[in-house]
Amino acid sequence: MQIAERTVVSFHYTLTNDAGDVLDSSDGREPLAYLHGAGNIVPGLEREMSGHVAGDKFMVDVAAADGYGDYIEELVQTVPRESFQGVDDLAVGMQFQAQTGQGPIAVIITEIDEDEVTVDGNHPLAGETLHFAVEIIEVREASAEEVTHGHVHGAGGHHH
Ligand code: ZN
Repeated sequence: MQIAERTVVSFHYTLTNDAGDVLDSSDGREPLAYLHGAGNIVPGLEREMSGHVAGDKFMVDVAAADGYGDYIEELVQTVPRESFQGVDDLAVGMQFQAQTGQGPIAVIITEIDEDEVTVDGNHPLAGETLHFAVEIIEVREASAEEVTHGHVHGAGGHHH
């Protein structure tokens, strides 16, 4: 079966950046399962998956704009430390939901001074060109319920 709309794809992957550093990998884990055509994975990767079948191994290069987005300086903000009153053990790397004009976004603390805290609303991989080494493990038809929900159920997917 070829990868197309309404198929569920299980695949192994290793993600590296331009420098060759491994950013993420399914090595030693269950393959990742996603519903094709539902935006479950980054657009640049999803597009290149179309038409492949189980057993295929290939490389996909994804520009930042087609991956986790370009790095946007305006999403880096400095806020007074008082804004975090009530948060114990404020630390670099902590994640929060921030309310913005475009709705809530996830921000991560990147710096803490005596009076100010720097938060970054960019995805940790924003601005990176992504290089995926992909191995397709299984392609199956999605159930009607999976299509309605927009995600995979069972192995590698949602359990609910
Ligand atoms: Zn569901």
